[in-house]
Amino acid sequence: MIHPRKASAVLLFCVFAFAFARAQTAAQGSKPAYEVFAIRYASIPDFPVSALVAGADPARKLSIAMTVWLVRGNGRNILVDSGFYRPQFFKTWKVEGFMKPSDAVAQAGVKPEEITDVIITHMHWDHADGMDLFPNARIWVQKDEYTYYTGPAWQTPLTHGGIDPDDVLAAVKLNVAGRLSMVNGDSQEIIPGITCYTGGKHTYQSQYVGVNTRAGTVVLASDNMYLYENLEKYAPIAQTLDTDSNLRAQERMKQLAASPRLIIPGHDPAVFEKFPKVREGVVRID
Ligand SMILES: [Zn+2]
Repeated sequence: MIHPRKASAVLLFCVFAFAFARAQTAAQGSKPAYEVFAIRYASIPDFPVSALVAGADPARKLSIAMTVWLVRGNGRNILVDSGFYRPQFFKTWKVEGFMKPSDAVAQAGVKPEEITDVIITHMHWDHADGMDLFPNARIWVQKDEYTYYTGPAWQTPLTHGGIDPDDVLAAVKLNVAGRLSMVNGDSQEIIPGITCYTGGKHTYQSQYVGVNTRAGTVVLASDNMYLYENLEKYAPIAQTLDTDSNLRAQERMKQLAASPRLIIPGHDPAVFEKFPKVREGVVRID
């Protein structure tokens, strides 16, 4: 028979061992928590809201935010979208307050060469053009988006609006250099705590990104939800290949995000008022 004092020591040891084992399991099971920042590198003034929110008053205009999202943690500096910088876009669009996306990211504290990954939500010029500004980054794009816009989209005149030939060539160059990864469809956790989702149909296979943070899941919707107004009014984005799919994607974002506040639209300047300012043009999202 065991002495009572010895028995209590054994019991105490068991309690500690159990608690330690549980803590270890929790640590193994939990995902890394990232910090998320929205970085505004330009604005496009007088943009018609009716081109963003289906059914909006055509007279309404908005200075839209041009944004990249920086996700830091787990030894990585991930960018979601890469902005634009090539000269042709400044001839077509009135651009204000421009800073090259790589410079804007550097001002926020991360050098271009320190970016480890760039997740491209879709191939439109204002999201994909900067993908070659980050020399050490792996580029992530949906497989169907890459395949379509490097191929069949150019066989007919109306199926590549918003896609710039230079960006197609840049993507192909990154692929043949071994630096591009194709995300194969929906709900793909490409990096621990970073998951890509499809369904918004802003382009052929646009994606949005769920990021695990200390506040739970943040959804970076990009242009699958242009403005908060899309979600608030249950209005699809004005530019989608499939309206129903877009509304379903927005509904799903509500399920995925820790709270509706943490669904971040692609071009809404209100993002930079709703969240705490880190420096000019940079807010922290959580
Ligand atoms: Zn856009």
